[in-house]
Amino acid sequence: MSSGHVLALSGGVGGAKLAAGLAAVLPPERLTVVVNTGDDFEHLGLTICPDIDSVTYTMAGLNDRQRGWGVAGETWQAMAALKALGEADWFNLGDRDLGMHVARSWRLRAGESLSDVTVRLTQSLGIAHKVAPMSDDPVRTQVQTAKGWQDFQQWFVGEQCAPSVSAIRFAGTPGARPSTAFAEALARPDLSAVVFCPSNPFLSVDPILAVDGVRGALAGLTVPRIAISPLIGGKALKGPLSKLLAELGQEGSNHAIAAHYGTLLDTLVIDRSDGDDAMHLQAGGLAVTLANTLMRGPDDQSRLAREVLAAVGVEY
Ligand code: GDP
Ligand code: CA
Repeated sequence: MSSGHVLALSGGVGGAKLAAGLAAVLPPERLTVVVNTGDDFEHLGLTICPDIDSVTYTMAGLNDRQRGWGVAGETWQAMAALKALGEADWFNLGDRDLGMHVARSWRLRAGESLSDVTVRLTQSLGIAHKVAPMSDDPVRTQVQTAKGWQDFQQWFVGEQCAPSVSAIRFAGTPGARPSTAFAEALARPDLSAVVFCPSNPFLSVDPILAVDGVRGALAGLTVPRIAISPLIGGKALKGPLSKLLAELGQEGSNHAIAAHYGTLLDTLVIDRSDGDDAMHLQAGGLAVTLANTLMRGPDDQSRLAREVLAAVGVEY
């Protein structure tokens, strides 16, 4: 068993649940959560970082589990006021959520880095573990549809993912450097494991892998690298992953997830309902762990986190 540091790579709501589970079972000095910033955008003068927000709300226990995103107990007065003023209303901004965006935006404009702002905001909400953006340099995910290249949020929220996607790119890469916390975590001599949270591999994890030097650093690690599949019963729980797999010409199964990460991965955790996939994945050289990967709340989150750490021999 090793008792060193764990680096978790996360997107938004799917990744956030496991990140919260890892934080529940590991002390603060043993976990760094690095979050995708490819979804970030400027809207109504605010800098919005949807995946950092999802991770922050979930790790702080403030997330709305019924709606599946945003803050619990949210109200929508500001949105109604903005609409009445003729401003764009395609992106939902709750009143509580707006507080987060205002706090982040003014701090950034005052010259703080996104890394510093993220530490400030997460600590203010009682999160003791380190949460860091993948990069302090702007990276913007774009999808290619019949209309050409579209900004991610315009496609994801504005068009509800309806236009078919033929390619994905991350504007700002190459050239975006890993945040200091990310680079430090990758280089730690006591690094024990890298956990790819059950996030969308194409939209949430690929931008992280596109940051300068990250693929190479992960490929060169000798510690276990373990991913949790975002598929349950062969399907994404929510979001555009299943649709993307079909549109990008890939199999709608764990084989596509394993093939996508390729040699960056040593172990894949798949849901028990997909147990039939295990033999074929193992034949491809991957270690496979079966678990109940559905996280309905904090108990499931920490149970799965323990199973993930146990699978790679990391103490908790
Ligand atoms: P987003 O950035 O908010 O879209 O979130 P992520 O990329 O982090 O996660 C989206 C993926 O999480 C989807 O493909 C879901 O299938 C997956 N997901 C959500 N909840 C769970 C869960 O409880 N268990 C597993 N295994 N996957 C989940
Ligand atoms: Ca996201």
